[in-house]
Amino acid sequence: MTDRYQQLARSSVGRMLVKRLGLPNPAPLRRYQPGQPVVDGPVLFGSAPKGRLGDAVLGVLKSVEATVLTSAAEAGEQRYAALVFDATGIERSEDLGELYRFFHPVIRQLGSNGRVIVLGTQPELVDSPRQSVAQRALEGFTRAAGKEVQRGGTAQLVYVAPGAEDGLAATLRFFLSARSAYVSGQVVRIGTAPVGEPADWEKPLAGKVALVTGAARGIGEAIAEVLSRDGAHVVCLDIPAAGEDLSKVANRVRGTAIQLDITSADAPTKLAEHLRERHGGVDIVVHNAGITRDKTLGRMDDARWDSAVDVNLSAQERINEVLLRDNVIHDGGRLIGLSSISGIAGNFGQTNYSTSKAGVIGVVQALAPALRERGITVNAVAPGFIETRLTSAIPLFTREAGRRMNSLAQGGLPVDVAETIAWFASPGSAGVTGNVVRVCGQSLLGA
Ligand code: NAD
Repeated sequence: MTDRYQQLARSSVGRMLVKRLGLPNPAPLRRYQPGQPVVDGPVLFGSAPKGRLGDAVLGVLKSVEATVLTSAAEAGEQRYAALVFDATGIERSEDLGELYRFFHPVIRQLGSNGRVIVLGTQPELVDSPRQSVAQRALEGFTRAAGKEVQRGGTAQLVYVAPGAEDGLAATLRFFLSARSAYVSGQVVRIGTAPVGEPADWEKPLAGKVALVTGAARGIGEAIAEVLSRDGAHVVCLDIPAAGEDLSKVANRVRGTAIQLDITSADAPTKLAEHLRERHGGVDIVVHNAGITRDKTLGRMDDARWDSAVDVNLSAQERINEVLLRDNVIHDGGRLIGLSSISGIAGNFGQTNYSTSKAGVIGVVQALAPALRERGITVNAVAPGFIETRLTSAIPLFTREAGRRMNSLAQGGLPVDVAETIAWFASPGSAGVTGNVVRVCGQSLLGA
């Protein structure tokens, strides 16, 4: 999909107009290419006194062969690829100035597509109310920093539970790298879990079987491509009417196709049988199939309500029930849902869709604690404005507003959603469960 405004804003006349009129200035986002280094410049690391993540962070930075600086003086004129701060040692609000003192002198030296990463401890896991308050306050800092960083930069807060230090690598790699190009202003929680680090970080899903519903086009197609690139065998599912496109995708990703309407009464058992008989079960389930049936509430007929809620929510619940009950999804597996910022903020004309997408967040909250014992993680992505056929059909002015109303002033690409899903799917993400991560360029809509 072409973003003409972005093209214009990069021309010489456009640049001048953008500056003079204070118009949105969407920076080109660097996206991941196989073989690309995780970070392509120096990383400044700092810590509040008593921070407990120094060894873990430095270990990850060493493993990605980053140039690590621990004082601003070492950088000279260079621009930083990332600024990483361990705030776990902040125990009282009076000490939040540690954040200011680390970031203030260097934030303007962050390079294009630079990364700000703040690390803390989940406020609900610390002992004292004052420490809990101070850790909660990190959210405001990170979200505001995300709105200030320029040139395609992003900012995230990663809460790491005590004892989960070894589970940081997959998440840190994701947020440092170009894989998280369109993810900003997010808060992620990593809990304790036995983490199986991939033998090869370029193929972390080698030997895994992944099911992607709605894989014939759009975001589902990109998810199939990225999971396959990362080494998984992908079972691509879509309705029979999309069969031709589906088999093209399945062939391209060297996976297999299954034509099935997920809302049909026998879909859960058929799917369970297929996965068990052909693949011995499944490791990664991505519930991507989704539809919109927009109308304002007073004008909405039963069929629009029923179909949106059934495809987007109830069908995946019924499938989960059977896959989990019959152990078709292996222990240590991954369940991943597609929510939407409509499910967080609500959207005009979408009471049915917003209900279903909030329900997808409900699935995460209801299942994640219960499945911890089996090592199955449950997470969701909530895309914002993603450049697909769906969004290209939106009327011009609404579309332009949707594209610009985020910190990166542009729409995301299907691959941005897919990369986030691949991070959830990684064996290194065993402690990442119960999260809803927005892929929205830090949209102004929603919390
Ligand atoms: P899309 O319409 O391009 O693709 C959806 C796919 O799901 C299609 O191939 C369709 O045939 C399939 N599908 C629909 N009903 C099905 C059924 N009953 N059984 C099996 N397959 C079925 O949509 P997209 O833009 O790629 O969106 C993918 C997901 O991301 C959806 O869940 C959507 O709600 C969500 N999402 C998209 C955006 C966006 O900006 N595009 C934003 C937020 C959330």
